[in-house]
Amino acid sequence: MRGKKVVILTGAGISAESGVRTFRDNDGLWENHRIEDVATPEAWRADPQLVWKFYQARRRQMNEVEPNPAHEALAKLESEIEDFTLITQNVDDLHERGGSNSVIHMHGRLQTLRCETSKQIETRMSDSDLTDDYVYCNCCAEPSRMRPDIVWFGEMPMHMEEIYSAGESCDVFIVVGSSGHVYPAAGMVHVARSIGAHTILVNYEMPANGEDFDEVHLGKAGEILPELVEKWLAE
Ligand code: NAD
Repeated sequence: MRGKKVVILTGAGISAESGVRTFRDNDGLWENHRIEDVATPEAWRADPQLVWKFYQARRRQMNEVEPNPAHEALAKLESEIEDFTLITQNVDDLHERGGSNSVIHMHGRLQTLRCETSKQIETRMSDSDLTDDYVYCNCCAEPSRMRPDIVWFGEMPMHMEEIYSAGESCDVFIVVGSSGHVYPAAGMVHVARSIGAHTILVNYEMPANGEDFDEVHLGKAGEILPELVEKWLAE
């Protein structure tokens, strides 16, 4: 794998062993909520308190969880591969805390909040930012309520130009811990395949788009990825 252009796409599964629950493992429920009740712009309009409390709990959880060996293995790969891009669907910061230097968060981040008026983002993780009370911006003359800086269902993912350009020019495309249900992320493997990239999947179970991969490694990412990275670096 050395000398090749490597693109990695991670999903909720890579953070599962850190204690952050995935979306699909209980039939589309996320921490006992239906996705449409907490992760859509309609939900934010209809019941902002429920959505806010849900994301504040996710934001507080960031202070309680730690990266696992799968995050650390990808940081090691980054440090040894010259042309390396890490894209994540995750909104947690476990890649960064596991040692990754450059992470593209296509679905936003939990640590930042977005002003509803100016759309400017601020990192807001102090204790007073993490209660169930709304947080107000520092950018407007009359401080505006902030919303989670998250791409909800029905919204456009971030950094898509950069992401497609990486996928369209890679030699190896690796997916870790993603169900293959959430588009456009799930379609990235087709982009990589169409230009002849070697496609690899590391996931707990065979996902919806499992057939699209040249190589499939089933198991827990924290257990199998460190070994795979050693093997890839030795090749
Ligand atoms: P998903 O929940 O739809 O799928 C997770 C996949 O990971 C499943 O296929 C499951 O089999 C696999 N998995 C579970 N445990 C694993 C492990 N230990 N090792 C390897 N694989 C494991 O997640 P998704 O595909 O990322 O898409 C759903 C959306 O969920 C994303 O948009 C993301 O923004 C959001 N989300 C993020 C987080 C997070 O930031 N940690 C958590 C939950 C949901």
